[in-house]
Amino acid sequence: MEQHYPFSLPPLPYAYDALTPQLDQRTLHFHHDKHFAAYVDNLNKLLSDQPEYQSWSLEQLCWDWCQLPDDIRQGVRNNAGGVYNHDLYFKIMAPTPASTPSGDLAGAITRDFGDLQALKDAMKAAALGQFGSGWAWLVFDREGRLSVRKTANQDTPLPLCPLLTCDVWEHAYYLQYQNRRAEYFDNWWQLVDWPQLSETYRLRRSTLPRCPND
Ligand code: MN
Repeated sequence: MEQHYPFSLPPLPYAYDALTPQLDQRTLHFHHDKHFAAYVDNLNKLLSDQPEYQSWSLEQLCWDWCQLPDDIRQGVRNNAGGVYNHDLYFKIMAPTPASTPSGDLAGAITRDFGDLQALKDAMKAAALGQFGSGWAWLVFDREGRLSVRKTANQDTPLPLCPLLTCDVWEHAYYLQYQNRRAEYFDNWWQLVDWPQLSETYRLRRSTLPRCPND
C-alpha cells in the first residue's frame, strides 16, 4: 500500500479460488473488487481537491482524521479506515497456512494469553461481540504486549500496532455463511498466515517508531 494520495487498490495476494472452502470465490470477488475498491475510490475522491492533505500517509489519515476539515472529516475517517483495514485483512490470510506462530510471537502469545487456543477464544469473543459492523484485532503496543480489541465501522486500533484482523462486516461473509458469523470466524481462523505474522511482529518490534504514536 503506497503511503499517500492517490491510493490504488492492491491486487488480491492470491487467486480468487485459493481460499476455498473457507472463503469462496464469489465472496472474495465482491469483498476485494467491489467493497475494498469502493473505499479506495471514495478516499481518493475526498482528497482530490484537498492538496494540503494529499501528502498524508494512510496511517496519518486514519489516526489524525479529527484534524481534518468538517466537510471531509467523517468521510476520510470511514474510507481511510476502510482502505487500511482491508489492506491488512487480505494480506494476513494465506491459501495453505497449516502453521503455528513461531519465534518472538509464539513467546508473546504464551506470555499474554497462555496459549494459541486462548488467543483464538479472545479473538472470537471480540468478533462475535462486536454489535453490527466492525473488526476484531490482535494488536501490540510499544513494549510488544499483545491484546485483543474490537472496533466499530471502519475505525482502526491505531496507535496500537495491528497484527491480525477479522472483518465482521456482513459483506465479509454473508454470501457464503449468511448470518453464521461464528462459523465464518472458525473457518477464517484456519487461513491465518502465522509465518507472516511472526515475521511482522519481529520486524515491527524493531522499527516501532513507524507507529503513529511515536
Ligand atoms: Mn470488508
